[in-house]
Amino acid sequence: MADLEGAESAEAFSSGMAAISSVFFALCSAGDRVVAARQLYGGTHSTTQHVLPRFGIETTLCNVDDFDAIDVAVPGAKLLYCETIGNPAIRVADLPRLAHIAARHDVPLVVDNTFASPVLCRPIEHGASLVVHSATKFIGGHHDLIAGVACGDAATIGRMREWAREVGPTMSPFTAFLALRGMKTMPLRIERSCDSALQVAEALEKMGGVTEVFYPALGSSPDKDLCERLLDGRGGGTLAFDVAGGKDRAARFQSALRLVAPAASLGGIHSLIVHAASVTHTQLGPDELDAAGISGGFCRLSIGLEDPEDLIDDLAQALDASA
Ligand code: PLP
Repeated sequence: MADLEGAESAEAFSSGMAAISSVFFALCSAGDRVVAARQLYGGTHSTTQHVLPRFGIETTLCNVDDFDAIDVAVPGAKLLYCETIGNPAIRVADLPRLAHIAARHDVPLVVDNTFASPVLCRPIEHGASLVVHSATKFIGGHHDLIAGVACGDAATIGRMREWAREVGPTMSPFTAFLALRGMKTMPLRIERSCDSALQVAEALEKMGGVTEVFYPALGSSPDKDLCERLLDGRGGGTLAFDVAGGKDRAARFQSALRLVAPAASLGGIHSLIVHAASVTHTQLGPDELDAAGISGGFCRLSIGLEDPEDLIDDLAQALDASA
């Protein structure tokens, strides 16, 4: 994994959240402050808001593209934290620009690279100090394990390894076997998911009942340029869209799907959909949902290895049925 991310060293954890919380707990102490993107996986957002404060660690939240605010917040912070492709709004972070700000203030940039995977993006090449993954997703790839990984310089990973050994969030041997096996097919799976996701995103843009589609490889995406520069022009296996009519229609739409399964994970062989506000981001209040760009009809769709035409037919029939 260290080789894939171009890092000196790596450590395996029992889940993505175990890797992420170990970053904070191994690198920060009471009285420290971190700066984090406002657009993060719900569990990470909640850790910064509800867990770290109990241990005397404060967080300044900034929009990931508000570079002036980040520049003001970073001095004196212990680390700057973001996701390559933010969950769930699928916005691409300008990693070189964030790394530049972090380096100017001698603060490490920590990047959750779960949505991009090292196949599409290697944040260390763009100036990040540390990379974390939920290996539950694209690395495992088969919806049959829960795991996390951190990659970085030997000294930092050494501190995280010591923390994991003492506190216990380590990866089990069988999970490690499954993760290593999953990694062998990761480049092929991701190539296929990206190709299918673009086809599905383009089809969704034309469907009635969908007000907006969020996918960085789309011509209409505000992140198209970042997608070209940081992700080799590929948008990843995950997209999002707004169902017209809000939460009630989104629920009817999801119930009418036959091929796409409603489930909270992503990055595996099966296509999965979630209504973000009711599943992955339940910890956020109405204002926080608004700030993260999550509307009532917002659905996140992870594209698996099914035939993209079958997926498009399924989404179309479910939209019709929910109208
Ligand atoms: N990071 C991101 C971007 C995620 O989407 C998730 C879970 O969905 C996590 C971290 C947490 O990973 P895990 O479920 O392996 O704890």
